[in-house]
Amino acid sequence: MAVDRLPCRGGDCINTILPATARANDGYCMPCVQKRKAAEYEKFIHQNRRTLDLYKGVTDPVETIHILLTSQRPDPLVQFVPPPKSLEEFCGALNSSEADQLMLRAEQEFKSGNIEVAEGMAQSLATFTDFALDPLLESWIEGDHLWPSVIFRNAGSAVRDRLLAKLSRASAASNLNHTLRALAWIGDHRVCDAFLGLEKSPPAWLRHVDPSRYAHVAGWEPTQDGRRDLYHKKCLAIHPVAAGETACQSVSLLKEAHETCPWCRSPLVNFFEFKLSTPEVSFLGLSGPNLPVLTCEACSCFGPVFGNIDRIGVAHWSSMNRRPDWLPNDIALWDRGPWSGKAVRLTPRRAVHAVEWCSTATTSQVGGLPSWVQNAEYPGCPDCQKTMTFIAQLDNGHFPGNEGIYYAFLCGACRVTATTYQQS
Ligand SMILES: [Zn+2]
Ligand SMILES: [Zn+2]
Ligand SMILES: [Zn+2]
Repeated sequence: MAVDRLPCRGGDCINTILPATARANDGYCMPCVQKRKAAEYEKFIHQNRRTLDLYKGVTDPVETIHILLTSQRPDPLVQFVPPPKSLEEFCGALNSSEADQLMLRAEQEFKSGNIEVAEGMAQSLATFTDFALDPLLESWIEGDHLWPSVIFRNAGSAVRDRLLAKLSRASAASNLNHTLRALAWIGDHRVCDAFLGLEKSPPAWLRHVDPSRYAHVAGWEPTQDGRRDLYHKKCLAIHPVAAGETACQSVSLLKEAHETCPWCRSPLVNFFEFKLSTPEVSFLGLSGPNLPVLTCEACSCFGPVFGNIDRIGVAHWSSMNRRPDWLPNDIALWDRGPWSGKAVRLTPRRAVHAVEWCSTATTSQVGGLPSWVQNAEYPGCPDCQKTMTFIAQLDNGHFPGNEGIYYAFLCGACRVTATTYQQS
């Protein structure tokens, strides 16, 4: 026998329910019951949420940085007031005695086992300031903790010799991966010689690993003539211009080129086009009026895309490009990247500023060291086989709902560019 269903009591709900359901749920259907519960919860949170300003009354920048780096447990009933300035701004303004205090704090946190906070402090000092961190590094080495490796940038000879000594006593069981990375960040002539030595007669523990791959972590490679840098010391952060700001004239992004991708048939773009006559970007080191970095936005996500720049500064698809086997067939339908058509401005910063890719407001930059999302992967020039120099990167993650970083490289001697892509 059919049972008569009843309409749900919910305002604009058109569901009907069994009499038993109606009795159990006060006349509401299950979706409405859940909707009402969620609304009640929201109301409760709204009425009981308090605002917490952890920075109120704190004037010491070291204390502020400490609070900033200590993650607050998310609580729906607490709304945290954001810090008055960003971590990079606070660190950038530290004087040397404040930097010493922050180093001491990092050491204390390290010794009390709060490794993540300690690492955050050390890394911020390494990337957002120029202060020497050697006193801190000594205690890190003491604890056989060599991470994050960028904190070893510019370390002095005492720290270097302790790490080199570790290397000479090495066995497969020791913390070698991190030791080699730390040494790469020191990267002076002694390290360069040591890496060349390892390359020439690799010990058993280094089988299958090329020491120059470790040097790539810090943006250089060892050669018989000394260290060869794969990046520019000058570094300019890229910001989309906001209302009232002036756009720079030295670089344009994602301008359509006059060629079609031979693999996916979508229009090729000049991912970057640098006007080399402007002093701001002339350091990129190529003769001629322009440095266009030609690529296919879609295909470069699957492997390096190379371009050739002719004498008048126009880029062409390189005949050395090799279509990756794993390229999908429907790739031409992909959307254009979020930087497309954006006017930008450039601000100077340290070359190491963004090496840790999620630590800063913008990862996008011209020059400096790349922010690898995965392993350091400098492409080789298809013409001369030399490792190419990093010249710029654009982070799609700057725009909500997007992700991934495009990297641009140049071999100035062969006038060849490369574009690669990494995402998490
Ligand atoms: Zn309902
Ligand atoms: Zn393509
Ligand atoms: Zn070349």
